[in-house]
Amino acid sequence: MSRPSEIIIDLKALLSNCRLAGSLCAEGKLVAVVKADAYGHGAADIALALEPEVDMFAVSSMEEALVLRKQGIGLPLLLLEGCFSTNEYLIAEQQKFELVIHSLHQLHQFTNIALPNPITVWLKVDSGMHRLGIQPEDVDHGLRLLNESQNVSNIVLMTHLASADSRESSFTDMQLTRFFDAIEGSPVAKEIDYSISIANSAGIIGCPQSRQDWNRPGIMLYGLSPFDFPQVLADELRAVMSFQSEVIAVRDIEPGEAVGYGNTWIAQRPSIIATIAVGYGDGYPRNAASGTPVLVNGQRAALVGRVSMDMICVDVTDLMNVNIGDSVELWGKNLSANEVAGHANTIGYELVTRMPTRAKRRVVD
Ligand SMILES: *Cc1c(COP(=O)(O)O)cnc(C)c1O
Repeated sequence: MSRPSEIIIDLKALLSNCRLAGSLCAEGKLVAVVKADAYGHGAADIALALEPEVDMFAVSSMEEALVLRKQGIGLPLLLLEGCFSTNEYLIAEQQKFELVIHSLHQLHQFTNIALPNPITVWLKVDSGMHRLGIQPEDVDHGLRLLNESQNVSNIVLMTHLASADSRESSFTDMQLTRFFDAIEGSPVAKEIDYSISIANSAGIIGCPQSRQDWNRPGIMLYGLSPFDFPQVLADELRAVMSFQSEVIAVRDIEPGEAVGYGNTWIAQRPSIIATIAVGYGDGYPRNAASGTPVLVNGQRAALVGRVSMDMICVDVTDLMNVNIGDSVELWGKNLSANEVAGHANTIGYELVTRMPTRAKRRVVD
């Protein structure tokens, strides 16, 4: 027997989410974002399952892209932060990687080398997030350099939305205006062919104007809503990751008795406490507070006391008949990682992405 804590990756749910993205972006193409080991879901498994459904993949770096090539992924791969050094451009060309160019520094590096064959370049424009991207007033200059370069086959103009997940759309509208104004104001843009890419998951679901030639879904593929409020389309997403374990001990405690390290939680009534084989060493967030929901036999119970490295304790006083070996869902189909994240001062993105390598992973289709 082994420790029961495990992660189940549901490829049917993945495909269903991907088809939702595809139907929303029916006029454009999909770049499935599989950076950071596919948000902790296992990039090779996810990319192999998605390959027939999408047009390309995006990762953060050359290292991540090479792992996918080794696993047999043949689609073009986009490096979202571009190249970090000059020798990477040659590898990118060899491997059919496409590049983001997000600064004048990268633009000059790229146009000053000679590639054996031209490649597709994604020129990123900073429309208001102020993280990566050339300034809107440099778009014409950037396009001119790319257009004159022998290294370029195709150009995609891209930008990234900072708050498409917010209920309030004025910032997104402002970003779209800045981006399109920059293109509109560029004489070179009128002379050349290019395509456009704006939307992340929140844009795809919530902002139809952001759906363009190339769309970049990430979190929605994994079945988590990018929104922290109910949203009709996002409600159709199905969780891909289920984080499960089992009850390994059950005890009765008296009122006034404490549970866990530091005695932070004290029973107010005669209580039944179930101990679950999962802890921060398995990827459960240590800062999840007492009261965080945990499903025991499919019923909601509350985490009590501090999260240990390998265990948590749950108050199951109000549940019928909890026994050793009973099933526990930490998050997944019946309890969203987003809801758990809300009790741990973070977001669902972080919870799924930072699963440790010791976590056992099982892929089901
Ligand atoms: C991570 C990322 C995405 C995907 O974002 P989600 O919110 O997960 O859909 C899209 N575009 C860029 C540039 C990214 O870095």
